[in-house]
Amino acid sequence: MANPVLPSSGVLSPLGLDAVRLSPGFWGDRVALNREVTIAHCQEWEEREGWIGNFRGERPRRGREFSDSEIYKLLEAMAWADHPGLPALAETVAQAQEGDGYINTRWSGSRYTDFEWGHELYCYGHLIQAGVARLRMHGEDRLTQVAVRAADHVCRRFMEGTETCGHPVIEMALVELYRATGAERYLEMAKRFVERRGLPALAEIHFGRGYFQDDVPVRQAQVFRGHAVRALYLASGVVDVAVETGDQELLKAVEAQWERTIARRTHLTGGMGSRHIDESFGDDYELPPDRAYNETCASIASIMLAHRLLLATGDARYADLAERTLYNMLATGVALDGRTFFYANPLQVRVPAVPLEGVNHAAEGGLRSPWFDVSCCPNNIARTLASLPAYMATTAADGLQIHHFTPSEIRSGGLAVRVETGYPWDGAVTVRVLEDGDGRIKLRVPAWASDARLAHGGTVREVTPGYAVADGPWRAGDELRLELPMPPRWTFPNSKIDALRGCAAVERGPLVYCAESVGDEPPLAELAVRVQPPAEHAANGVVELEVEAALGDSDGDGWPYSPARNDRMDASDVRLRLIPYHRWGNRGPATMRVWLPI
Ligand SMILES: [Zn+2]
Repeated sequence: MANPVLPSSGVLSPLGLDAVRLSPGFWGDRVALNREVTIAHCQEWEEREGWIGNFRGERPRRGREFSDSEIYKLLEAMAWADHPGLPALAETVAQAQEGDGYINTRWSGSRYTDFEWGHELYCYGHLIQAGVARLRMHGEDRLTQVAVRAADHVCRRFMEGTETCGHPVIEMALVELYRATGAERYLEMAKRFVERRGLPALAEIHFGRGYFQDDVPVRQAQVFRGHAVRALYLASGVVDVAVETGDQELLKAVEAQWERTIARRTHLTGGMGSRHIDESFGDDYELPPDRAYNETCASIASIMLAHRLLLATGDARYADLAERTLYNMLATGVALDGRTFFYANPLQVRVPAVPLEGVNHAAEGGLRSPWFDVSCCPNNIARTLASLPAYMATTAADGLQIHHFTPSEIRSGGLAVRVETGYPWDGAVTVRVLEDGDGRIKLRVPAWASDARLAHGGTVREVTPGYAVADGPWRAGDELRLELPMPPRWTFPNSKIDALRGCAAVERGPLVYCAESVGDEPPLAELAVRVQPPAEHAANGVVELEVEAALGDSDGDGWPYSPARNDRMDASDVRLRLIPYHRWGNRGPATMRVWLPI
């Protein structure tokens, strides 16, 4: 079966990519654009920047020490998309593999001399994930051979000893290779990498060992910390190891860390990672909107982790977070043209970015860029969208579970259904049965949905967050209709989040909204909103909102503090237009804010 995550046990089981076919719609359109535009875009830039040439031995070598991993992420995207460019690119990569399976264009000749920053095992992780994707979509070929040889090299070199990589990802890659091949050495190697971490296994660095989660053993950690992508890739691999070895204690440890991270270290958009300096989680409740880093890759890693926890436990809250992150982070990370990307995703931008042609050397979140010095995010988006159907629905002994609603056809065991919906703009979801069959159909009712109803066989009943359940047998033409009312709603932050005190945000269904100002539109620096029901209107297939606000106009450039309270603004009333956060930054340089002072 073709799916990025195929655990051998768990409450829910994945469906193959061929079992979930997306039709035109919010995600179907993005998946098609990814296949037709983004994959080729990434390959062109990797060629232009010399990162592919590194595998041909072109000198001087170009790109950062981990640039090989971008080609591997792209190969994974190509594998899931069944892209015709894969064999030639895999052949180029294969040229760089050495006799014992070692492959790295930066460290060949000085291998394994820098575990903290060298990223060699990290690069193997992405190569192995690409190999697994190819194996499952196509069967053995040059790419799968390169990946297996690299994995065998890793097992020979690292099975004994105390070493591990500064950047996790090899853990989940090795578990998946074990799942795909049945070779237990890969699982054992992954388990050892997980257990070594925090003993500690790596040297002290100026960010501290917490940066690469080497400060305490995984089982003893209380919360996700340090570099957000590293933390979330590691946690994903830990869940994989826990599931395959039946280690309930280890699984529970990650669930508890996730719980605390969601309660204290996650932005409204699902974004994770507050600090720019080391791309890390902040302290508890350190969630500043303007300084939010929220790397696109961290959100992808969070979706991967939530999906693994969903499969292991069946708990709808993991799908809730995945939905929040899909619609407000993944969809934000790539523009509607499929060619420009956000690396950082702040919730407030004070100064419009300066447009820029070519490579973005920074990772700020003002305008989407075609490419970055570190271009993990575009390739990560490409591989995630190429495998997105894998996240939509699952199966279990009693039937089918649909977690995310987008126009699609789903076949699972004895059930075949078509999902028809205008989600996320409209909360009506129709599930039409295509063939006679039996089994229970479960539809996720998101945590935000109140007054949700399920119509089935002439009856309508109220359903609450979690899963709405309908039992068969089914006849072709039968219909289930889930109604998720989506009035715009105000959302308020816990007062412990100092940076957000006195603010509110607007959400509608799964979408977070923001105010955006382009050109001479009203400035957003000084505004206050009235918490009244927002007005809704549809514009080009998008639901926009409007709220009542007052724009201040305080003057003076002097000392900005005074002994008297000076927060009374000389205000003028306006109607403030709000757009979905994922659509911000598409009209040129803009200021933006999600959290609005009341
Ligand atoms: Zn990234």
